[in-house]
Amino acid sequence: MDSFEVLISEQEIERRVRALGQEIMADYAGKPLTIVAVLTGSLVMLADLMRQVAMPHRVALVQASSYRGARTTAGDLAVSEAFLVDVAGRHVLLLDDILDTGRTLSEIARRLESRQPLSVRSAVLLRKIGRQVVPFEPDYIGFTIPDEFVVGYGLDFDDDYRHLPYIAVYRPGAS
Ligand code: 5GP
Ligand code: MG
Repeated sequence: MDSFEVLISEQEIERRVRALGQEIMADYAGKPLTIVAVLTGSLVMLADLMRQVAMPHRVALVQASSYRGARTTAGDLAVSEAFLVDVAGRHVLLLDDILDTGRTLSEIARRLESRQPLSVRSAVLLRKIGRQVVPFEPDYIGFTIPDEFVVGYGLDFDDDYRHLPYIAVYRPGAS
């Protein structure tokens, strides 16, 4: 049987996202802000976070897929450019569910930088320790977690379990 061990509760997430929203609001008050969220894992956090950032701001989505496995290299990340909105003259806050190797965020940040934004900063719900291969420092971090595979609150295993309201360590069963 698959096993789920709750790592971060619904209440802890709620509290932390509210605090991040306050921080972001203080930092971007009066500035043109666009939150660019990476599909699909950051959707749940985006929905919660944007309602905590109680000031005018825009939201955009970007699709990125990495081809995982032994052959994965930095060049293997596909970002669908069609999703990239006009960020010229705006501050960008890139949002993702988890920073693992750092490839996804560093590559999307690089692409956004070339579109004349006023600034590009980043926020992640989770930062996994001990896996990073590309130097990248998120500006806002929800929680730092050990090197375990987690699901819930937007994060999936094989596209499932995103609906869980908490973050759990997922261990697949034998079957
Ligand atoms: P990176 O490019 O930093 O290696 O990978 C980030 C992406 O890998 C995340 O957006 C997420 O889709 C996936 N990922 C990395 N670690 C985990 C994990 O523990 N659980 C889940 N569900 N996805 C993960
Ligand atoms: Mg993802």
